[in-house]
Amino acid sequence: MTIEFEAPKPLVNMQNMLQTVAENMMRSTSREMDENEHSIPWDYIEFMHTAMRSMGGAGGLAPVEEKPKEGAEKRPPIGYQKLAVQIEMLAWGDVGYYLVTPGGGLGAAAVQAAGTPEQKAKFLARFNEEKPTFAAMCMTEPGAGSDTSAIRARAVLDEKTNEWVINGEKIFVTAGDKSFTEYEKLGKGFIVVWASIDPSAGRAGMRAFVVEAGTPGVKITKLEHKLGIRASDTASISLVDARVPFENLLGSPTVEKTTTGFKGAMATFDATRPLVAASGLGVARAALEFLKEKLKENGVEIRYGLPRQKLTSVEREVIDMEIMLKSAWLMVLKAVWMADNKKPNALESSMSKVKAGDVCTKITQKAVEILGPIGYSREFLLEKWFRDAKITDIYEGTGQINRLVVARQILGYSGSELR
Ligand SMILES: Cc1cc2nc3c(=O)[nH]c(=O)nc-3n(C[C@H](O)[C@H](O)[C@H](O)COP(=O)(O)OP(=O)(O)OC[C@H]3O[C@@H](n4cnc5c(N)ncnc54)[C@H](O)[C@@H]3O)c2cc1C
Repeated sequence: MTIEFEAPKPLVNMQNMLQTVAENMMRSTSREMDENEHSIPWDYIEFMHTAMRSMGGAGGLAPVEEKPKEGAEKRPPIGYQKLAVQIEMLAWGDVGYYLVTPGGGLGAAAVQAAGTPEQKAKFLARFNEEKPTFAAMCMTEPGAGSDTSAIRARAVLDEKTNEWVINGEKIFVTAGDKSFTEYEKLGKGFIVVWASIDPSAGRAGMRAFVVEAGTPGVKITKLEHKLGIRASDTASISLVDARVPFENLLGSPTVEKTTTGFKGAMATFDATRPLVAASGLGVARAALEFLKEKLKENGVEIRYGLPRQKLTSVEREVIDMEIMLKSAWLMVLKAVWMADNKKPNALESSMSKVKAGDVCTKITQKAVEILGPIGYSREFLLEKWFRDAKITDIYEGTGQINRLVVARQILGYSGSELR
């Protein structure tokens, strides 16, 4: 069996196109977006929506398989691999901006994971319509982040009207504002809210509900001021007697005493963790390239061919950073390749996220350290990338939680045995 490391041509072409977007649209306004948190980059949103539609995308960053030309041999699936490359490149431009790329995001991932075929058809079609549209996922609550079983949001069926009545408090919802607030320039988005329909059943009673933008009883109560990714909105959302149609519960309303449904939904997020890892590695690459460029301007070229003991300490540090970056990227590639080929990848997915979280935090920090004032000054973007990097280690499972997932997978323990 041969191992092919060369990226397919369509992927390289797409990478080049995205690099142009990253350089011309993102980098030139990165600082402005960082300093004006909660402003909305409409030009970018509209440009990306139009570009993705014209390329036959699903109106968002979702795995898309190109149809083979007539008579051509069927190629192996590369949807998630392509997505990882796209995301890495956009995050190299600006990871906060990348998070404002229109599309279904985690909201659509939840519909994909837990929805019936009819629900998928109904709720996912809108991302490819004329206006850019967003969706978000609301899992985290005050007191329930890593431990999702502690969620207190409740959904009760009103049998008279056949509607679910949802009450709860959700925090740290990425793109929550653009998904729920009805902006003129955006299509009708939605948030997916996780709530219990039977608290006595624990995780087995948890369900996801599609809550349409503008639903009465739902309010954005706060937009977070953050350390990094400041172009991305992060919302707190309260739901007070919010009514949603019966059919907006994703999957089955029957509570069985097993967590298969919930686990199935969570397992599909195994596909998204390597993508978060890819975004962190885009930031790390930006920092490393900037470091090398500034060193070069100061007469320091990395002498790759020399034995290690003959290198200066800065050269050794840069080479070590390159090793970290490349090895983390290989882990991402393996995890997305497994997702493309429908192989269970919980282990590789969490490993890639843990590794990328560490690597992007270390590389950006080291780059600031080596460059000193140039790294610390707001004149350059390096200090921003240093702030942007940390989130890779927090959302979609913190570093500690993903380490637990890895340990469980390797040792064969269940969630309740190893917590
Ligand atoms: C910018 C941003 C965007 C986000 N976007 C979303 C979103 O779109 N949707 C959403 O639902 N959530 C989102 N989140 C929430 C995010 O997923 C949670 O913050 C994260 O899961 C951690 O949960 P927590 O904040 O409650 O921390 P906690 O669970 O309270 O954890 C605090 C610390 O304790 C550690 N810890 C917890 N349990 C264990 C354990 N068993 N063993 C070892 N260490 C442990 C954690 O690793 C962490 O270091 C976002 C968060 C941020 C900051």
